[in-house]
Amino acid sequence: MLTVSHEVVSVELDLVGGLLACPGCRGRLRPWGWARERLIRHGVGSDLALVRGRPRRGRCADCLATHVLLGVDLAARRADTAAVIAAAVEAKVASGAGHRPIAGWLGRPVSTVRGWLRAFMVSSTGIMEAFTALVHRDGADAAGLWPAPATGPAGGALAAVAAYAGVLAARFSVGTVAWQSAGLAVAGPFFFSASRWQDRVQHELALMPGMAGGKGGRSAG
Ligand SMILES: [Zn+2]
Repeated sequence: MLTVSHEVVSVELDLVGGLLACPGCRGRLRPWGWARERLIRHGVGSDLALVRGRPRRGRCADCLATHVLLGVDLAARRADTAAVIAAAVEAKVASGAGHRPIAGWLGRPVSTVRGWLRAFMVSSTGIMEAFTALVHRDGADAAGLWPAPATGPAGGALAAVAAYAGVLAARFSVGTVAWQSAGLAVAGPFFFSASRWQDRVQHELALMPGMAGGKGGRSAG
């Protein structure tokens, strides 16, 4: 599974053009049908809607492994959009509220929201270290990119990812990049999963092709 642009046409062009790299061997991915249908909950409150979709799938021309191409608005193994998960994390960091009131506010099951927040909390140190390093590597004026001082590990992680979203927005000359989009684009579809950060093995953090409306195709390295 890998994270790609949420713009279908951009993904298709990258896939056909051989611009998407296999997460396993860096070989070129070629079109290979679609993954099974997913039902994703979008929005909050009266805007809550169930949306069906079948992500594109690619197969590596070298190792022949198949990979699901997940749009940057979605996270692996989550039935809600990344924006909703991000809203839960922001509420936790901003107010220190527990998972119950946040779940009530978002209109999501308590156990689901507890899972999101737990995963982000235990991943905080890994996320903060990885994205702080990226900000200092890629940010021309790193000091100006940091948001208000953060409290706690989760706040620090959120601030670091938000700072890197600022780096990406400047690089691609787009107004803003949502922090969860930066996280998923760079760390991959398991950005919101504790397993992604658990073993502290720093997988390659690379900017995906097609980031920021297809202006990409460049690596972050
Ligand atoms: Zn491969």
